[in-house]
Amino acid sequence: MTNITAEVDLDAEGRQAGYLRVPHSTHDSAYGWIGVPIVCLANGPGPTVLMTGGTHGDEYEGQIAVTRLARELDPSDIRGRLILIPALNAPAAEAGRRCSPIDDGNLNRSFPGNPSGTPTEMIAHYVEEVLLPRSDVLIDLHSGGSSLLYPPTVLHALDMLPDYRPDPAQGTREVQARGSVYAYDPGIFEPFKQIADPVAAGDPLGQIHDPLRPWAEPIEVLSPLAGFLLAKRVPGRVSRGDAVAQIASDI
Ligand SMILES: [Zn+2]
Repeated sequence: MTNITAEVDLDAEGRQAGYLRVPHSTHDSAYGWIGVPIVCLANGPGPTVLMTGGTHGDEYEGQIAVTRLARELDPSDIRGRLILIPALNAPAAEAGRRCSPIDDGNLNRSFPGNPSGTPTEMIAHYVEEVLLPRSDVLIDLHSGGSSLLYPPTVLHALDMLPDYRPDPAQGTREVQARGSVYAYDPGIFEPFKQIADPVAAGDPLGQIHDPLRPWAEPIEVLSPLAGFLLAKRVPGRVSRGDAVAQIASDI
């Protein structure tokens, strides 16, 4: 049983838009709620796909992609049901932060959630108990390579987009992450490679400078993995244990 109420009927046909109301009683708002925006498109029989962005509020690409689909797709474009939630952890998305500023909740680490817990735990529980049982497929978009799994391509694979044709030249590229490469030294990471650059095992991916010891040699970060650069760290300081790159390969 959830304490979240939906302004939309998840089982209705056609287009619906509104908020999932996450109850949040505070000093400023005794009977207040946090709004998680939701758009449902339904057109007859077919699979139900739940697509979410903003599980981590600082990951913008998925939020943009799901927002665009919510605005641009009509029910007549699909077969089945598409549930679009572009800012699943809405407080985190509004703050542009990985975790919610309300409860410091990392939604991706909050499952299966708690119907009477913090707002982040309540959202996780709603996904687990209300949305997932209705869904055949969940596409939760995170950054760092999510753009290669372009949502309409995935929907095409499920036969939900009768009018979509893949790019005949590029086709559909499917990749899998091999693993992350970590910094062992603190400093400023200078990347050597761009996203999608090929990487051989042993290749230097970048180097770590220490501006507080400018006489020290920079420390190279070597890739133990082969493939291509799926993600790299935003330029700036790194600490020991920070992932500076993620390597992937074609399936
Ligand atoms: Zn994420």
